[in-house]
Amino acid sequence: MFKSLPYRRIVATLVLCIVFLGVLRASGAIGDSSGGWGFNTANLDKTCKPCDDFYQFAMGGWMKSNPIPPEFPTWGSFTVLADRNQASMRGILEDVAKANAAAGSNQQKIGDFYTSCMDTAAIDAAATKPIAADLAAIEKLKDPNELQPLIGRLQQTGNGFLFGFDSTQDLDDSTQVIAEIGQGGLGLPERDYYTRTDDKSKQLRADYVTHVAKMFVLAGDSQGKADAEAQSVMNFETTLANASMPRAQMRDPHEVWHKMTLPQLEALAPVWPWEAYFRQRNAPEFSAINVEQPDFFKETNRLLTSAPLDQWKSYLRWHVIHASANELSDSFVQENFSFYGAKLAGSKQIQPRWKRCVQSVNRNIGEALGQVYVEKYFPPEAKAHAREMVANLIGALRSDVPTLGWMGPDTKKQAIEKLEAFQIKIGYPDKWRDYSALSVERTGYLANVRRAVNFENARELHKIGKPVDRTEWGMTPPTVNAYYNSTMNEIVFPAGILQPPFYDPKADDAINYGGMGAVIGHEITHGFDDSGSQFDGKGNLREWWTKEDRKNFDERAACVRQQFDGFEVEPGLHENGKLVLGESIADLGGLSISYAAYEKAMEGKRPQSLDGFTPEQRFFLGWAQVWGANLRPEYARLMANSNEHPVPRFRVNGPLSNMELFAKAFGCKKGDTMLREKACKIW
Ligand SMILES: [Zn+2]
Repeated sequence: MFKSLPYRRIVATLVLCIVFLGVLRASGAIGDSSGGWGFNTANLDKTCKPCDDFYQFAMGGWMKSNPIPPEFPTWGSFTVLADRNQASMRGILEDVAKANAAAGSNQQKIGDFYTSCMDTAAIDAAATKPIAADLAAIEKLKDPNELQPLIGRLQQTGNGFLFGFDSTQDLDDSTQVIAEIGQGGLGLPERDYYTRTDDKSKQLRADYVTHVAKMFVLAGDSQGKADAEAQSVMNFETTLANASMPRAQMRDPHEVWHKMTLPQLEALAPVWPWEAYFRQRNAPEFSAINVEQPDFFKETNRLLTSAPLDQWKSYLRWHVIHASANELSDSFVQENFSFYGAKLAGSKQIQPRWKRCVQSVNRNIGEALGQVYVEKYFPPEAKAHAREMVANLIGALRSDVPTLGWMGPDTKKQAIEKLEAFQIKIGYPDKWRDYSALSVERTGYLANVRRAVNFENARELHKIGKPVDRTEWGMTPPTVNAYYNSTMNEIVFPAGILQPPFYDPKADDAINYGGMGAVIGHEITHGFDDSGSQFDGKGNLREWWTKEDRKNFDERAACVRQQFDGFEVEPGLHENGKLVLGESIADLGGLSISYAAYEKAMEGKRPQSLDGFTPEQRFFLGWAQVWGANLRPEYARLMANSNEHPVPRFRVNGPLSNMELFAKAFGCKKGDTMLREKACKIW
């Protein structure tokens, strides 16, 4: 789950993709409503005043009565809903697995993929056989010149080997696709995990080395050899980490944009035989390649001749085992969980097999599964409702822009143009991915996964040199999440999130605007956050701001960054304001425009109070309800250290404490925590 997949800088999502899903609970669904308006007053903690800590007030009751189930690192709205979707997907997969679907059909593929994953008897019996050929090939390495063909082959069917090779939209011409390479190859979540000097980080590194050694032993090495190899891997990855770019820096598109010709790349990293490599990967001819982090490739180039061959062997061996750990026998799966699930994220217990298999199908051939999912679970009305809400939100921002005191008329005109150019995707793709070239068999789980990875990698590389296909989706339909993609200037809402408690056609409007409305506003605002605002309406990286307006924007963004730097997540560990800036701007802006849209929707027909809450108060309860969650301390640390999203508590109290309208709704006074003396406001 924390494998170093090639980092996609272009997509700003709503939450960290939650891959840990757990038991289906009959009770505890956050959107359950006592009074029928979409918010259950049992969620409240009335011992806490809304102006002291709104998150606690709104969701403290729920958090108290809904402890985290053992197999989760966090439990809240997103996980509860994702869990429900998961059960729906299981039903689909079990049905098609029994249905004897036509060979080569999507039904056959998802059913057989799932069946091969559930067949633990065959998987355990095969033990390390599925990776034996790769390990033998590594063992046979005699010369550093043999590294390229081997690494190239490993990259075809697995991720996490040294670096990533992919296609990307040309940021200078958003109609075209070019080649791209980026840093990768680490076993810990990101580079700073290798360099931090606090005790917790040192302990985690020691635990990582122990874990790597245990995996080597499982693969057949003696303890002594395994220990030495694990230390060697740690040293190698630390060198890679030192040459890697921190995640917060990668949020700036200019930092990861270095378009080169092939000769320029060959001059940058001359040891690696690039032409042979691209040929091996079946990449189409190209005239331009983006090198996301040139320094990283200089360092890997140096390692090709400076690192001993034995160290390369240990490193590659480890990543073969690591990349396949979840598809191997139970001892590998359990050991993998004990580090990544338990130590790193804090889960107490591994999820049931069926959940892991459902996730695997969704991750590997998700559009084949998603097609059946939406037919069964996504009513057309949900799409129509969402479309209407998006239109209202865009309308609210269109009215807001002209009123901004800090932005001049030229930039305002351009901002409106960008807003009008937004592409909106709701529910599921209009054009489904074609899986006909992918074969899936009923046995051989790892082989299925590898073919799916190979299929996906080849599909990505095939796009190089071709016009951009704007119909593609970056998330599967059952996903409980949403995203903004700056190079397409699009906002995307999968079917999975268009359900209670985010959106409920039976709920009070205030709850829907505070929930789904603010989520939509969040994604729209990403088009105008510190990163997204550098792209124009067509998705080109082009400055459309005047110097003066950019300066004003940066000052306002700095206000948000400083606030988040001040939030303490765990004792001694604060949010990284630079890392979470885009998400925090999006939350603040999203709430402001959704509130405005709600006010407009209420005009002339102001609803009454419900359970003692005014419509305005209910709007903010809707937002808190979306984020209500319990987090294990390990998971909170993981988020603060490596995720662009702040922890839920600050996604509620952070933006709301800047909003005068919130203070007005709850009567907060000067001196109250939820009313800041120095408020930040952008949109
Ligand atoms: Zn976001």
